[in-house]
Amino acid sequence: MKRLLLATRNAGKVREMRELLGGLDVQIETLATHPDVSEVEETGSSFEENARIKAVHAAGASGLWSVAEDSGLCVDALGGAPGVHSARYAGVHGDDEANNARLLRELEGKTERTARYVCVLCLSRPDGEVLVTTRGVCEGEIARAPRGSGGFGYDPLFVPERIAGVTMAELQPEQKNLISHRGQGLHAFLPLLRAHLDEAGD
Ligand code: IMP
Repeated sequence: MKRLLLATRNAGKVREMRELLGGLDVQIETLATHPDVSEVEETGSSFEENARIKAVHAAGASGLWSVAEDSGLCVDALGGAPGVHSARYAGVHGDDEANNARLLRELEGKTERTARYVCVLCLSRPDGEVLVTTRGVCEGEIARAPRGSGGFGYDPLFVPERIAGVTMAELQPEQKNLISHRGQGLHAFLPLLRAHLDEAGD
């Protein structure tokens, strides 16, 4: 069976991507079992550039076809911030609580609270050839206080447009996957990935 590496150490992303890639006839691996893949600096200024950097790096280091995703939250009243800096908005990489607290502080007194989640996915071959890039977007707005315990990251503050009145963290995982930026990005990504896997054979 063909092996596919999910090039992320974010447990929330791994969980959602595993659910969304469930129907594929591949063995899915993650960086948790690939200490051979070092950290790579996300030096890009766009989600596309960072997804590409991570996919090419992981594929080269592991020798496996690799899928990377770069995602984040873009808030209109903050000029698109935190954007590519979403994971470390409050200074420490992956400190969700501190990131959410900073977001609420930055939006204090602002009435315009529209925002969107963006997710870009890239598939790279071990030789560095990027075969697929797709983008998913989920529109919504930022709540005034956190609610819910599902999902990860900014989910307790993100109210998706398509299910108004609840935060992303109050949805069941299947509901989130149906409307999320990651779900949208993977929906476009899957048939292309399948076609490349078929073409490559075992
Ligand atoms: P990356 O690892 O550089 O792509 O950072 C992604 C960051 O964006 C995460 O650490 C979260 O802060 C935020 N983010 C991305 N996707 C989601 C999501 O589905 N829910 C909540 N926050 C997210």
